[in-house]
Amino acid sequence: MSLKHLIGGQLVDGGSRRAPVYNPSTGAVIREVPLADAATLQQAVDAAQAAFPAWRNTPPAKRAQVLFRFKQLLESNEERLVQLISEEHGKTLEDAAGELRRGIENVEYATAAPELLKGEYNRNAGPSIDTWSDFQPLGVVAGITPFNFPAMVPLWMYPLAIACGNTFILKPSERDPSSTLAIAQLFEEAGLPKGVLNVVHGDKEAVDGLIDAPEVKALSFVGSTPIAEYIYARGTAKGKRVQALGGAKNHAVVMPDADLGNTVNALMGAAYGSCGERCMAISVAVCVGDQVADALIARLVPEIEKLKVGPGTQCGLDMGPLVTGAHLDKVTGYVADGVAAGAKLVVDGRSLKVADHEEGFFLGGCLFDQVTPEMRIYKEEIFGPVLCVVRVKSLEEGIALINAHEYGNGTCIFTRDGEAARLFGDQIEVGMVGINVPLPVPVAYHSFGGWKRSLFGDLHAYGPDGVRFYTRRKTITQRWPQRETQEASQFAFPSNG
Ligand code: NAD
Repeated sequence: MSLKHLIGGQLVDGGSRRAPVYNPSTGAVIREVPLADAATLQQAVDAAQAAFPAWRNTPPAKRAQVLFRFKQLLESNEERLVQLISEEHGKTLEDAAGELRRGIENVEYATAAPELLKGEYNRNAGPSIDTWSDFQPLGVVAGITPFNFPAMVPLWMYPLAIACGNTFILKPSERDPSSTLAIAQLFEEAGLPKGVLNVVHGDKEAVDGLIDAPEVKALSFVGSTPIAEYIYARGTAKGKRVQALGGAKNHAVVMPDADLGNTVNALMGAAYGSCGERCMAISVAVCVGDQVADALIARLVPEIEKLKVGPGTQCGLDMGPLVTGAHLDKVTGYVADGVAAGAKLVVDGRSLKVADHEEGFFLGGCLFDQVTPEMRIYKEEIFGPVLCVVRVKSLEEGIALINAHEYGNGTCIFTRDGEAARLFGDQIEVGMVGINVPLPVPVAYHSFGGWKRSLFGDLHAYGPDGVRFYTRRKTITQRWPQRETQEASQFAFPSNG
């Protein structure tokens, strides 16, 4: 079965090329996805452009009513959507449900459109002069999203962009596009006018087309750092507004006074949940002192060996497969590289076999000790179930290590010491910080974004920054002269002086 694009409210074919979509638990191709060509992309751009004038003029409260219905449909379709996410991505059903719930929270935030777009007003900014700032939509905006959150990351983008009065073209990951498409269709079912949201599947050709289309005024991207940097450079060179969120290497500092039992439980979920395929996954444990490192590893090993791994669509599992065979090869390549570089592989998940799923893309949890900063397994994002332990002598050394890393997405510290936590929060050069919280993903009414090479652009995703990203400020200064009065020219610069 081949998926279709959603353009102008119609499901359409488009583009002669196709890509396979796998069920990663079985290794079988279960669908095909069309890869848009230039003509298909132009169709989507035209549909979004045509829908813009009416949607821009639709009162924000009416836009919000559609979003309320959309939220209800997402909730009533949860079971089907969670199955679809899990089937193509491989994550467990519970994990997929969590992803969908966090996505819905962004829809809930966007329902506040009338409040969010109220603007700013001053009466008597000067003599008989009033002034106000209005936040107006940009026009057609586009989003390009990764495979690892096929529901949530698109929901970071288009509900808010559309609530702000823009029309949208979404280019989801070609690796697991079905849930993304199904969710977009629910928005139409909720009453969204045709062409306000369009979904175009594709690869680099479609993305380049979106960057180059003059009608597309802004681009939101979430994915790996090389592509984020490319899209940011090419998009801004075309004069577009771009926010491009990239990859990560997230460190957790474990202090000598940490509650070790809870730290181990938190690290297990943060390192191995979703098979490590989260941009906020903890992939490095920075242990302050050898005693902490030895004690932590002693407790982690049996937990990793106990991980329940199997097809994501089965209930009650801890971890599913990786997304594709190519990604499995990449992750196991990193494990081999770490061994060759001299790191100590304490738990090796490569021999894991899942009964009746021999062709699935499974890898058991892996744990490395004695990892050092010059190793590739430390420097690069692995994006798999691999946790590296790095030993440092002090909190200050740990902070310096993290600050020297090229990525700065998320981090956390496990401690009972308020002073250490406060110092860490203040000094660390990372965008999202947890204090005894391993995955500090901001809630929908804050904004999400990393520092350094984890984000290109000024504004973070969703929340208040999202409103600013999807609108532009227009400031109007108004004065109505009194009838019949003659006003003299004023050559000095106007001021209240
Ligand atoms: P990816 O960069 O391979 O793909 C992301 C999107 O870019 C997809 O839609 C893909 O089709 C498109 N793309 C791929 N190659 C392209 C090219 N050469 N030119 C133009 N477009 C291209 O990322 P992925 O493997 O789907 O997702 C995993 C990555 O995303 C990880 O690095 C992860 O850390 C990152 N991620 C970051 C965040 C964040 O908020 N910072 C969130 C989720 C995922």
